[in-house]
Amino acid sequence: MYPLVRESWKGLMRELQVAVVGGSIAGCSAAVLLDRAGHDVQVYERSSAGLVGRGGGIGTPVPVLDGLMENGVIDADMPHLVADGMPFIVRTEDESATGSVPWSMPIQLAAFHWSALWGQLRKRVPDDRYHRAATVTDVIEQPSGRLRVNVDSGDPVDVDLVVFADGYQSLGRRLLFPDVDLRYRGYQLWRGLAPESTLSDPDVLGSTCPRVSYPTMPGNFVCYFVPGEDGSMQPGRRLVNWAAYIPVDREDLPAFMIDRSGQHRQGAIPPGQIRPDVEEQLKSAMESELPDYYGAMVRATNHTYVQLIYTARMPSYHRGAACLIGDAGAVAPPFTGSGVFKGYNSVQSLLDVFERHDDLVSALAEWDTEQVQLADRLLALGDQMEQAFIWDSLDLTTADAASTEAWWHAAVQFPDDFSYEATE
Ligand SMILES: Cc1cc2nc3c(=O)[nH]c(=O)nc-3n(C[C@H](O)[C@H](O)[C@H](O)COP(=O)(O)OP(=O)(O)OC[C@H]3O[C@@H](n4cnc5c(N)ncnc54)[C@H](O)[C@@H]3O)c2cc1C
Repeated sequence: MYPLVRESWKGLMRELQVAVVGGSIAGCSAAVLLDRAGHDVQVYERSSAGLVGRGGGIGTPVPVLDGLMENGVIDADMPHLVADGMPFIVRTEDESATGSVPWSMPIQLAAFHWSALWGQLRKRVPDDRYHRAATVTDVIEQPSGRLRVNVDSGDPVDVDLVVFADGYQSLGRRLLFPDVDLRYRGYQLWRGLAPESTLSDPDVLGSTCPRVSYPTMPGNFVCYFVPGEDGSMQPGRRLVNWAAYIPVDREDLPAFMIDRSGQHRQGAIPPGQIRPDVEEQLKSAMESELPDYYGAMVRATNHTYVQLIYTARMPSYHRGAACLIGDAGAVAPPFTGSGVFKGYNSVQSLLDVFERHDDLVSALAEWDTEQVQLADRLLALGDQMEQAFIWDSLDLTTADAASTEAWWHAAVQFPDDFSYEATE
């Protein structure tokens, strides 16, 4: 039905029965590609409702989005905007309105709504293969080598391959690699979506994706336009997606993660649920750290939300006939913008090894080697960006264009296969 890149994706591999655990970005990508390649795929998703509304705005390098469109896994007209510059900005006494900008890096970043991407992938998974309100509780290897998948909503199913795409708190990661823990990075990401109408002058933001340093504390602020809720890309109807990386000591997390109803939250506080006193504190802090333009953007935003930032580094991405993809595998910090790339790339490379192998175990072993290398590249990028943006930023108040550009290129090197920096 959708254009294929290659005629015979199944290659040497026989038709497999596959259970995909998790029906989000990575899970739907896996279902679409494996189904297209002729495998028998069932998706089990814990959530009973659709996932629309999760995630806010996200960005990915333009070539990654182009690749998804060319492969027909999303529509060519999926609403998105392109940011072409990343100005490095800081508030100074002389430049308190929009900030001082020593240098702007040329970039190619596609910006869109997380739920628009999910919707595009989801509509390509046949409904009779996507089981909602279906939580996988365990996966047990049978003497035959097949895997038994226990699902709380029905009978167990036996399959050849289990693809865990169950996110950063993955059951699959705990089952396969119980010794690997998520690592809290010492900061949270506070996020919001502001209507364009709240900006004093939309042209200041224009088609850029500014990185704003705080003058008095570690951390970083980023924002960019995304389409409006209705997908409109017209000026005046867009939304601004903003995110502020703000350090929170581990010992302060228990108090910080209590929401407005007094409930303690794990990992994230959803839109509108942050305690008013905490939200007010965050807004005041941003008003004093950011140039007025960006501080006002934050002040005008309702229903803000919080995500704690973790990473996970795995020794391997499969055990037997079960594998981990997307955030269930490696987790890199959000400023890499690599989540979409990683989820899709992992499935694509699984299909590539299936072309060359008729044996699932040897196929997964080769795939695993590639996954470890891919994750290492993205995690190294995450470590570099974390230093540059959070813990060891350049003092932009005294930097000029040449020193800022030199600092950035010394601090951060994108891998060859993943970059949002524009090449001439
Ligand atoms: C703050 C933040 C900002 C980000 N910004 C970007 C960005 O700009 N660009 C980018 O590319 N990426 C970004 N990412 C990453 C991106 O959002 C994720 O990589 C992507 O959503 C991960 O998709 P996933 O399918 O692997 O996992 P998830 O989206 O977490 O989905 C996992 C799914 O599994 C389901 N599930 C869990 N357990 C079970 C179970 N036992 N049984 C059945 N179902 C189960 C869950 O309900 C969920 O639907 C960001 C991430 C964060 C946290």
